[in-house]
Amino acid sequence: MHDKTLAELTRSLEAGEFSSRELTQHLLGRIDRLDGKLNSFITVTYDQALVAADAADKARAAGEAGPLTGLPLALKDIFCTQGVKTTAGSRMLDNFISPYDATIVEKLEAAGTVSLGKTNMDEFAMGSSNENSHYGAVKNPWDLDAVPGGSSGGSAAAVAAGLVPAAIGTDTGGSIRQPAAFCGITGLKPTYGRVSRYGMIAYASSLDQAGPMARSAEDCALLLGAMAGHDLRDSTCVARGVPDYTEELDTPLAGLKIGLPREYFGDGLDPQVEAAIREAIKVFESLGASVREVSLPHTHYAIPAYYVIAPAEASSNLSRFDGVRFGHRCDNPADLIDLYKRSRAEGFGDEVKRRILIGTHTLSEGFFDAYYKKAQQVRRLIRQDFLDAFEEVDVLMGPASPTPAFDLGAKKDPVSMYLQDIYTIAINLAGIPGMSVPAGIAGSRPIGLQILGSHFTEARLLNVAHQFQQATDWHRQRPAFAEENA
Ligand code: GLN
Repeated sequence: MHDKTLAELTRSLEAGEFSSRELTQHLLGRIDRLDGKLNSFITVTYDQALVAADAADKARAAGEAGPLTGLPLALKDIFCTQGVKTTAGSRMLDNFISPYDATIVEKLEAAGTVSLGKTNMDEFAMGSSNENSHYGAVKNPWDLDAVPGGSSGGSAAAVAAGLVPAAIGTDTGGSIRQPAAFCGITGLKPTYGRVSRYGMIAYASSLDQAGPMARSAEDCALLLGAMAGHDLRDSTCVARGVPDYTEELDTPLAGLKIGLPREYFGDGLDPQVEAAIREAIKVFESLGASVREVSLPHTHYAIPAYYVIAPAEASSNLSRFDGVRFGHRCDNPADLIDLYKRSRAEGFGDEVKRRILIGTHTLSEGFFDAYYKKAQQVRRLIRQDFLDAFEEVDVLMGPASPTPAFDLGAKKDPVSMYLQDIYTIAINLAGIPGMSVPAGIAGSRPIGLQILGSHFTEARLLNVAHQFQQATDWHRQRPAFAEENA
């Protein structure tokens, strides 16, 4: 049961092989038995899950089941869930019970899914390894010495370990795609504005997007269809119809034009990762695609621009955590200033503080033009690079990450961690959609192929990824951890 994709589970539910309650109980049992070794969940919502599963079974019996009815999933702990603890991986929100649901939580519930709980993450989604969580690091089920990636590391590890068939993550600079790559699953970051950000705790508002993390592109298509769409409660959410993302999955790839950005195959790329990506490209050629090199000349500036813009927006977003309205409050404050200072000093971890300092500095008078404005100008150039490339090709491909998962504790220096994001971060600056798809294994650690498209081409990306998954079985590989604990 715990090995199947959402599409397969639906067929089993339809055939009456098991009920949603049985499936849910089986997975909750696995979480109980196995998650002590992984730490992928912060909160498991046993009771609510069984109530939702029973409702789904009833709906099915009444002939009212949709494609996601009764399917379990997990939510990154950045999505507000009514009546459930919502922490964003921070001590600051350890006591926060959300009074309302995020839009995507409402939508996924309305589609009949069964949430099993809230997954671990880097504090306020800042990180690339999940080691910045107040609730401790998450281990990669493929190799317990390795990180699962970040910041949606709990979501990725839970899916890879067979604790849940799919999970929702968020991606501000790679946090869906890089952990998907490290854990051998399929992840999609939608176009900025495709999915509502209402009720998703803000990190960097002009970059944040929620998206699905699952075992196949088909499953991502099913989930995106349920999550996407206009929302009056998020002014950046685009009013645009939501297609049936499963409809184009079977379109043949003959004639597809693939671009390989020269800048994504340079120094610092692990040779095993490069070899796997080149093999994957050959598969696409055998499916009738043509391949050419393209250039994204401003790639080099993506990390510096991002690490000005994201901390600036974060410092502003995080000013709401002041010890007054919600979240952590220090004991016995001497006065209001002491309350602010100590509540924030105690509530936030080191990486969050570092970014608040950087962001406050770059937004301050005298530095705004030199840093923030400049970074926004560079962002525009980066976006233009992609638009120019998509004049010539349909999709871009390359690695999702320069290396497979690294060891826990290996990147103590923050800058070496930031450099991890080299292939993912520009995509958020440009606002375009991107996927990571399993495309190899180095030793015991998976490798992810990144597929990028122009704005609102999710259906095409899902089609390209699905065709690859029809021709290969990397997405079917499971870590020994999941198999030994069958
Ligand atoms: N690693 C990047 C950061 O730390 C991206 C994180 C994310 O996408 N949330 O900001």
